[in-house]
Amino acid sequence: MPLAVSAETLRTLHRIHQQLADLHDQLAAGPRQIATRTKHLEAAGEKQTGVLNDIKKAKLLADQKQLQLRSAEVKIRDLEAKLNACKTNREYQTLRDQIAADRMATKVLEDEILEALELIDGIRKTLPEAETAVTAAKKLLTEVQARIGGETSALQAHLARVQAELEIIEHELPVESLESYRRMIKSKGADAMAVVEGQSCGGCFQQITGNMVAELKMNKVVSCRSCGRLLYLPESSTAS
Ligand SMILES: [Zn+2]
Repeated sequence: MPLAVSAETLRTLHRIHQQLADLHDQLAAGPRQIATRTKHLEAAGEKQTGVLNDIKKAKLLADQKQLQLRSAEVKIRDLEAKLNACKTNREYQTLRDQIAADRMATKVLEDEILEALELIDGIRKTLPEAETAVTAAKKLLTEVQARIGGETSALQAHLARVQAELEIIEHELPVESLESYRRMIKSKGADAMAVVEGQSCGGCFQQITGNMVAELKMNKVVSCRSCGRLLYLPESSTAS
């Protein structure tokens, strides 16, 4: 069981943790991209549904007007049939006026129906664009899903290799430092370790004592007193 740990081991350990953090970041980016594309597809779908609903509403309105027109026409025909049965001129004239007024009303209805049909046509013209947007959004989502799927397997394979490498290197840590090391890694990840820069901690830039540097040179496990990072010497200082 090791009682000391070389700067080289700690350097490797830190490099592995940085690599792991980077791989986890890359893995997390994939689902975010898929979520964005999914949202785009949903928005395009809602727009398309909106257009279809508008067409439905306009059609309903046109149908109602057409029904009104038909019953108005029936009513006019009934009134026309009654013309022959009129007994007085006055009665006849009143009926004629009524028919004329009803014809005016059907003219208005006819115009309204025409307007409603034009409205339907106008809305229908926006449908292809909405459909194209949905198709395009679907295609983009499928593409991004396929790409992320491929990347994710590659990243996971890479992650597994780095993880295996980590476990091997971790065996070189003194057993009495393992617990605090794991605690630090768990809370800070790659930030749990720092290289010594000159006479300072490379993580928080606070000065470290000469005694700490001496201990590091003796391959002892040393933590920064201000930030708690596990310290290690840079490559140049341990060459001798
Ligand atoms: Zn520090």
